[in-house]
Amino acid sequence: MNYFCRETCIIHIFFVTLYAEMNANEPLRLIIGPCAVESAGQMRAVASSLGAAFHSVACGVRIILRAGLWKPRSRPDSFQGVGAEGLPWLTGAADALGVPAATEVATPEHLLTAYDAGLRHFWIGARTTSNPFMVEALAAVPIADKASVTWYVKNPTSPDIELWCGAIERLRQAGYEQVAAIHRGFALGECSASAYRNAPVWSVPIELKRRYPTLPVLTDASHIAGRAALVADVARQAMRIGMDGLMIEVHPCPAEALSDAEQQLTPEELGTLLADMTTSRHDDMTKNPTDELTALREQIDETDDELWALISRRLHIAEQIGAYKRANNLPVLQTARYDEILSKRMAWAAGHGIDPQAAKQIMDIIHEQSVLAQT
Ligand code: PEP
Ligand code: MN
Repeated sequence: MNYFCRETCIIHIFFVTLYAEMNANEPLRLIIGPCAVESAGQMRAVASSLGAAFHSVACGVRIILRAGLWKPRSRPDSFQGVGAEGLPWLTGAADALGVPAATEVATPEHLLTAYDAGLRHFWIGARTTSNPFMVEALAAVPIADKASVTWYVKNPTSPDIELWCGAIERLRQAGYEQVAAIHRGFALGECSASAYRNAPVWSVPIELKRRYPTLPVLTDASHIAGRAALVADVARQAMRIGMDGLMIEVHPCPAEALSDAEQQLTPEELGTLLADMTTSRHDDMTKNPTDELTALREQIDETDDELWALISRRLHIAEQIGAYKRANNLPVLQTARYDEILSKRMAWAAGHGIDPQAAKQIMDIIHEQSVLAQT
């Protein structure tokens, strides 16, 4: 399946409709802090350097201090986290900042240890969400006061929405009422044309919000971006689309970070990003649609009617071509012809202010459907 095509289409076609329908009454949540707890000194520096940025945030916004104690790393020789030893450093920093602390838990032991140390906000990492056995094991931990716990479920590393939903449902079925999701992008490897570390594939979190309209869905701008310079762009996109909050990694000295050094912001960069972010969302999201917006939506609906009529016409022509090729023993796929169509449309797109790559993605899915119509 071509996820980029789906992403492009959904964002372009449904963007306006979606924007006002998102859950504007949910308080914005910001989960901010270093990738990992590294030392007592680092967490003291976190506490002293984040205060200014946290205080600049408008009231009504919920801030949570994040830092990983147990780090799921691809390679065994990278920093694996300080483990339970860092719990008092994390809770100390959170207390000093006057906000709750959150950490990643991947095993029942992590959860019980962190819960016993007083933590009530936990996220399930992308690699753990991918494993239903692990999610099941976490959901089954006998937590005394489930009502006090908030879960944040990151998307699995592949764009498999059922796995993401499955993890959310397992926690809900275990009696947790405060469950949110975190969109952290998808590892598409070679298939990805994205400039980011993890491709956002916005269509997946959008579909999640469609399925669960009251579920808060946050965007982890840092793990999507992968580079500090791109974090603000992703955060801005998330806010414009109507996501319910952000996870952002920030470190007192990113260059010295033991994990994810390239993507962590300095406290000053965080301050600038937050000043940008939170004011505009509130103003934008609380307005009622104006007559102008309603009129524009009518135009979108009319354009979609025309677009789908054209797509349907194109598919009928493809069926006739299929019949001709069958009768004349010609193969369905003729790559030279598709090359010609594609170059023409990409050149046209470039001349009309449309990203040629986006044009290619749309053309690829239309062509795929035409090929299937001929078989
Ligand atoms: C993290 O938040 O530090 C982390 C490891 O995230 P993910 O599970 O999204 O890779
Ligand atoms: Mn990280």
